[in-house]
Amino acid sequence: MTPTMTSTDRKVTFPDGRSVRPIGLGTWNLGSYPPLREQAVAALRRGIDMGADLVDTAEMYRNEDLVGKAIEGRRENIYLVGKVLPTNASFKGAIEACERSLRKLMTDRFDLYLLHWSGPFPIDETVGAMLELQRRGLILSWGVSNMDVAEMDDFYATAGGPTCATDQVLYNLAYRGIEYDLKPWLTAHGMPLMAYSPILQGRLAESPDEVVESIAREHGATAAQIALAWAIRDGHTIAIPKSGTPAHAEENMRALEIELSAEDLDRLDAAFPPPTKKTPLFTI
Ligand code: NAP
Repeated sequence: MTPTMTSTDRKVTFPDGRSVRPIGLGTWNLGSYPPLREQAVAALRRGIDMGADLVDTAEMYRNEDLVGKAIEGRRENIYLVGKVLPTNASFKGAIEACERSLRKLMTDRFDLYLLHWSGPFPIDETVGAMLELQRRGLILSWGVSNMDVAEMDDFYATAGGPTCATDQVLYNLAYRGIEYDLKPWLTAHGMPLMAYSPILQGRLAESPDEVVESIAREHGATAAQIALAWAIRDGHTIAIPKSGTPAHAEENMRALEIELSAEDLDRLDAAFPPPTKKTPLFTI
């Protein structure tokens, strides 16, 4: 039986005006165990059937061929996000890396291309490569990942910097530090946040906190779904959970249907307090 697509009109808008659903599909470690590759492809397709319109990949994940296979025939409905390794992020290196990734993905463009984390090349050079890739039509927009406020300020100050579309960072109930400064910075600059590891690499689902479990019960939901509903609660965040199993991919997309109440959010704040001072950005 074909699963019914999740019913939601919730969208998050990027600075160029394009919108996506606030839950997309992560792909790190997807298909890394060869016997489960077919299942991984099926999981991505299930997520897409359930309404996911964003797929997040990276040259580092070494599975762009698998992702390409999963989105084959559906590419036009997908907002495809790729990432260049910092060690490849010179002007020439980033262009070559992007071309390589696109070949593996069997497509002709990324919707969004990110610098995976800061590296050895001057940021003006990497931004220059991003703008050149955009000029050539190989990427439609660009952004960064794992950058804290000071680095965002530096990027923003480069020529072309203000066209940066997003910062993709660790964000989940257990890691809320960015709410102190980075999240407001992104909002003030009109950029949505991309929240990676929104289920804390499965830990928020496997050994959920009592409060999360009790809220999940009240919503007839799972702990993973509560973690996702919480991550996307502000309308400016896109969570990108990874799942290699079709059932989890479906479950994650159904989190779009959950609206947490003010009381739920208060209880979650008490269990996972928001930051009261600057903490350095955590990365995975
Ligand atoms: P995550 O999405 O928080 O967690 C993935 C883990 O949770 C997997 O073990 C998965 O197992 C499990 N899971 C997923 N849905 C579940 C459900 N409904 N119930 C129970 N378990 C569930 O962690 P992540 O993969 O680290 O982060 C997500 C994505 O963010 C990555 O795949 C990647 O695309 C991106 N990311 C980016 C960076 C960066 O530096 N920019 C860093 C980390 C991650 P199953 O596969 O068995 O479902």
